[in-house]
Amino acid sequence: QPQLAGDFGTLMVWADKGRRMKVRTNAETPADCAVAREFGAEGIGLCRTEHMFFDPARITAVRQMILSENEKGRRAALERLLPEQRSDFVEIFRIMSGLPVTIRLLDPPLHEFLPHREEDYQEVAQASGVSIDVLKRRVGELHEFNPMLGHRGCRLGITYPEIYEMQARAIIEAALAVADETGEAVVPEIMIPLVMTTREFELMKAVVDKAAEAVFAASGKRLDYLVGTMIELPRAALMAGEIAEQAEFFSFGTNDLTQTTLGISRDDAGKFLSAYVDKGVLPKDPFVSIDVDGVGQLVSLAAERGRAARSGLKLGICGEHGGDPASIAFCEKTGLDYVSCSPYRVPIARLAAAQAALRASK
Ligand code: PEP
Ligand code: MG
Repeated sequence: QPQLAGDFGTLMVWADKGRRMKVRTNAETPADCAVAREFGAEGIGLCRTEHMFFDPARITAVRQMILSENEKGRRAALERLLPEQRSDFVEIFRIMSGLPVTIRLLDPPLHEFLPHREEDYQEVAQASGVSIDVLKRRVGELHEFNPMLGHRGCRLGITYPEIYEMQARAIIEAALAVADETGEAVVPEIMIPLVMTTREFELMKAVVDKAAEAVFAASGKRLDYLVGTMIELPRAALMAGEIAEQAEFFSFGTNDLTQTTLGISRDDAGKFLSAYVDKGVLPKDPFVSIDVDGVGQLVSLAAERGRAARSGLKLGICGEHGGDPASIAFCEKTGLDYVSCSPYRVPIARLAAAQAALRASK
């Protein structure tokens, strides 16, 4: 594994000897994956797939898919998106060869995909053969007052399962291709976002499994893969025991878990949070450091209930807190298997994980 050079590199080697938790990264571009590997990331804990869909070469097909009124139209658009999605994952699996990669199925705020400018509408109309008037009506129907609490995460997979089917197919096809090419096993970890009930997870896992089986049947090859869930809603944390009977790993999405536990919008918190910290209402910015009394309790409880239902359940964290030393210390105490943070925070996380482990062993 590449190491950082000089004294800092030596310090990192010492840190690695002292730590128990693995350090993964949140990365979705080949460039970020390469940087994270250089910094010693031991896998990807969160590969978000939303930005891939914003690629200017793909956005018209994405809009066509979202705005289509029927499954046939959505499938036609997804068929166009599949090859590029497959090559996204091929590149990532290649760079991360030999390391675990968790890919999260689509979790967009839907409104960001909708067309706004007249020329966007014209492009979609041309590609889909649907009139601009119909497209505008559809955009009106899809409008949400609060997209962060709206039609996102696996809710999108429940209403349009064909999106997750395309992504799962792309992941499995890419994993088979890279395993062939490198001779190394690729074990993709497919993650379902914003799960709230066991049934949601069950339905989404069935979509993934069906897509994987179709790829295996067509290629005559097989590989192992895992299907797990984000725990980022209080209800999911409370139901962790039941969910763990179905899910093969948990990753704590502490950004959304903080937003939904405290009822504070992650996008608007900046307007008043500093006053809250100054006046001692909250000890720290809860979007930076895990709010131990609220979110922390839910994380511990979910870890406990999850592991009671499935011994050895793999547990990680992929919210921003995964790169914050105080939160990393909390994760060590809670017994998580890994933290995942942005590429440039990987060295900090390696050090913080070692400090936490050493402190815990005293
Ligand atoms: C989270 O909610 O903590 C998370 C990692 O997902 P995202 O930030 O993409 O919502
Ligand atoms: Mg989230």
